[in-house]
This record gives sequence, C-alpha cells and structure tokens, in this order.
Amino acid sequence: MSTDAPFPIRTGGCLCGAVRYEVRGRLRHVINCHCGQCRRTHGAFGPYSNVAKSHLALVEEKGLAWYRSSPRAKRGFCNTCGSSLFWSAGDTDTISISAGTLDQPTGLRTIGNIFVDDKGDFYNLHDDLPGFPAGSKGALDGDTS
Ligand SMILES: [Zn+2]
Repeated sequence: MSTDAPFPIRTGGCLCGAVRYEVRGRLRHVINCHCGQCRRTHGAFGPYSNVAKSHLALVEEKGLAWYRSSPRAKRGFCNTCGSSLFWSAGDTDTISISAGTLDQPTGLRTIGNIFVDDKGDFYNLHDDLPGFPAGSKGALDGDTS
C-alpha cells in the first residue's frame, strides 16, 4: 500500500481505555499469525498490522504492561482488561499492532497468513490469501518473521 499521500492519524486502544494510542505513519495491511504464542494470547490467530516504532504514540499507558514472550520479542497488553495490543521485537524498527484494537474504520485489509502449520486444529482457513507454514521471510509486506 505504498503511497506518497499524507497518512491520516489513526487511533486505537484496549477494551477498558487504560491503553490508548495514535499512529501517525503508514499502517501495514493485516497479516494473520497462527503461531502457538498468538493462539494462546489471542485465543486463535493474531491479526496484526504494523507501523514504524517512531510513528506510534501512546496517549494513555497506565494499563500497559509487557510480557517477554520469547528471547526476541515482547507482547504489550493491558493489565486492567487483558487486551493484547502489541508485539515488539528488539531487532526491528517496527511494532506490530493487534488490528482489532484499532478504532474503526481501519482502512485495512488482510493480505496473508503466517505460521499456518501451528494454527489451531479447531478452525479451517477458507480464504484465498497467500499462506506460509512459518514466517513469510519478507514475502508478505513488512513481515520480519
Ligand atoms: Zn484495558
């Protein structure tokens, strides 16, 4: 979705409002991650957009807590209502944002599925989007897995 047009400010937050954020840059379209970590933290897959870390501003962060989910990455969640909001790796300059926490309309669409080999056995994929057994290794825009 590359464009030279100015990006509208997008807003989002958790269920209770103890975490609110603004995005001031290009939001990537959504990639559904089916890995075992997303399965547990989201209850199924994790639908993630992402944005440059420098373009994410926390407007309210009193509820924000971080869980170190792997040596590479941590997950941001609200310690009041439990919403899963962010996935952030130490070795990239982008941060993934749970698309469901964006205020609607998001203007986004889903572009693919990753870590399909780890998906929950209780649902099937019925879309025609590109799918990858693990990370797409850059085949999907902005996917660093
Ligand atoms: Zn909350």
